[in-house]
Amino acid sequence: MSGKLKGPYRPTIHRFLLGEAEVTTILDGTHTREPINPPFALEKSETEIASIAAANKLPSHGFENSYTPTVITVGGQVVLFDTGFGEMGRDGHAGNLRRRLAEAGYAPEDIDVVAFTHCHPDHIAGVMEGDAPAYPNARYTIGRREYDAWKDGSEIPGQRAQNREMFLKLLPPLAERMTFLEDGDGVVSGLTAEAAFGHSLGHMMYRLESAGKSLLVWGDVTNHYVFSLQYPESLVGFDDDKDMSIASRERVLDMVAKDGLLVSGHHMPFPSIGYVERHGASYRWTPATYQLRM
Ligand SMILES: [Zn+2]
Repeated sequence: MSGKLKGPYRPTIHRFLLGEAEVTTILDGTHTREPINPPFALEKSETEIASIAAANKLPSHGFENSYTPTVITVGGQVVLFDTGFGEMGRDGHAGNLRRRLAEAGYAPEDIDVVAFTHCHPDHIAGVMEGDAPAYPNARYTIGRREYDAWKDGSEIPGQRAQNREMFLKLLPPLAERMTFLEDGDGVVSGLTAEAAFGHSLGHMMYRLESAGKSLLVWGDVTNHYVFSLQYPESLVGFDDDKDMSIASRERVLDMVAKDGLLVSGHHMPFPSIGYVERHGASYRWTPATYQLRM
């Protein structure tokens, strides 16, 4: 009998060349969450959400939240964007980044820069492994506004109280090796930080430019490829400043659609690389396929 079911299998590492740079996306893990509202479509009824889900061939009772950090090698530097859940995710669902980096050919010591988009747990928790930095040779970059807001705490929403405790434990001890970024600041040659505040108070994106090719690592500008892109004005529970987040989302979606810019999105479906198309006041995620190999 060879017809025994082997169970689901999914790819977790994806790599391609872009100009003279190399881009790897790695699945840290996933959580299945119920319901959809919250966190998404806070202003929409259950019926409206069910109809949007059905139109997009998605279940209406919940969604899969996936976490995909990006690694870019450019100018001889290896830059890791966000660190996943680390040890706190190792309940069988997440925290796989370091193991999968090794599978992808990177030792922890190979990471030269850890570039944070923002300080929510799925982005910073994996920065430490036990009592030691998970990427021992890395320096760090973070938006100055982001770091200051979490350090000060007075503007952090109440629902992020535990998240702030995590920030205080993890990041201030690393401050000596940290570069604090403003909009437009360089990270390494070919990589520039761009402000997109709102999802968190000082959320940053990073733009790669190499030999005429570009990629925007947009972090959490959008958190779901349907609910955030088709309804960019929709209220999202994950957003710390909802009005500012909507403004940033609309601005960035308009920009990447207009410019045909390639995107890497932490919560876009793995391999989390794609384009955005405009349809009226709405947008669609178009996953990248073979165009990046030709
Ligand atoms: Zn996130």
